[in-house]
Amino acid sequence: MKHIIITKLKIRKMARINSEFAAELKKYGAGDFNSCFNCGNCTATCSLSTEDNSFPREMVRCSALGLEEDISASLKPWLCYYCGECTTHCPRTANPGELMMSLRRWLMAKYDWTGLSGILYKYMSITIIAMLLIAAGVVWFAVYNSFNLEKIMNFGHMFEMFSIAGVFAIILVPNIIRMWYFTIIKPGRKVSFMKYVTSLGEFFIHMFTQKRALGCDDNQTRWFEHFILVIGYLTLLFTTVFMDWFGSDSMFVIALGYVVSTIIFVVTFDFVLGRIKKSKEVSKNSQPSDWFFVIWLLLMGFSAFAVRTFIDLDILENNKWLYLVHLIVLAQWALLIVPFGKWSHFLYRSFAMYFAKLITIEKR
Ligand code: SF4
Ligand code: SF4
Repeated sequence: MKHIIITKLKIRKMARINSEFAAELKKYGAGDFNSCFNCGNCTATCSLSTEDNSFPREMVRCSALGLEEDISASLKPWLCYYCGECTTHCPRTANPGELMMSLRRWLMAKYDWTGLSGILYKYMSITIIAMLLIAAGVVWFAVYNSFNLEKIMNFGHMFEMFSIAGVFAIILVPNIIRMWYFTIIKPGRKVSFMKYVTSLGEFFIHMFTQKRALGCDDNQTRWFEHFILVIGYLTLLFTTVFMDWFGSDSMFVIALGYVVSTIIFVVTFDFVLGRIKKSKEVSKNSQPSDWFFVIWLLLMGFSAFAVRTFIDLDILENNKWLYLVHLIVLAQWALLIVPFGKWSHFLYRSFAMYFAKLITIEKR
């Protein structure tokens, strides 16, 4: 009887193996993780790995064995903040840090019900075509409205509001529900309603502060840059969408918009430089999605700053092209990078911290 049970368990386990998984993961940027010889150096050097949540070695092994279901049920890829320590100390150049990043990209594609996230991650040509189609749509709209700046700017303001609401309601909320299903419900983890409520603070703390990143060795500067970028981005969003920065006469709103768009520009410029120089482990293996994220954020900050400057100098009417450039960048950001690209990484990670807290509490 015992033999039959063990055999059944083995068959169940075997059925979960996806022999194509390693090849699939490489399309998301993973390096030569199959060269891992299971020494454990990476886990020993990771300052965020704990007894309860040990990584990245386990994730390297699961990936090499093609244990796709185990990975989709795991929150561990989200607990890594990519400091690169594990990669530096890996004797086999298996690049476990980049593997963890690739797993996060793969998980984002897994959570996304539309399937677009995976397509855009794997095929840069499709991303570029989608970007061009959005740009063509904005230009067509401007031509259709005879380049009437007032009409185009009104549309731009409405677009900001409706695109945020639409992307959240149609794409991101269903994807978060799928993430919850894959990581809590499907693996049979029982969490009471009260625990969902009392642990909710964890989500907001991580979303606004990403404080766990401070646990990474020598990561304070990077954490601080991320922190002010998140605050700057959320404030610019609030200033343009709810305070109508481009249409406002309030000195406070105008000054606030200038300050936060400058912060976004300066911080993202530093990120772009870091990726070009490849001075840190985290910048050495930039994928197209990483470049799109930092460059589009930089363009958003810069073009928003320039549009408001042209309004204040009263020269925007004669330079409508500038607002069109800003609108194209904004539309590409809102329709591609936020729902399907690296922006959603920020949201999934905050939920992962919340879900991890629920599971940790259950163990006590
Ligand atoms: S340090 Fe490298 S070889 Fe050792 S377990 Fe980690 S990934 Fe594998
Ligand atoms: S990149 Fe840093 S945080 Fe991530 S697994 Fe490696 S050592 Fe840990």
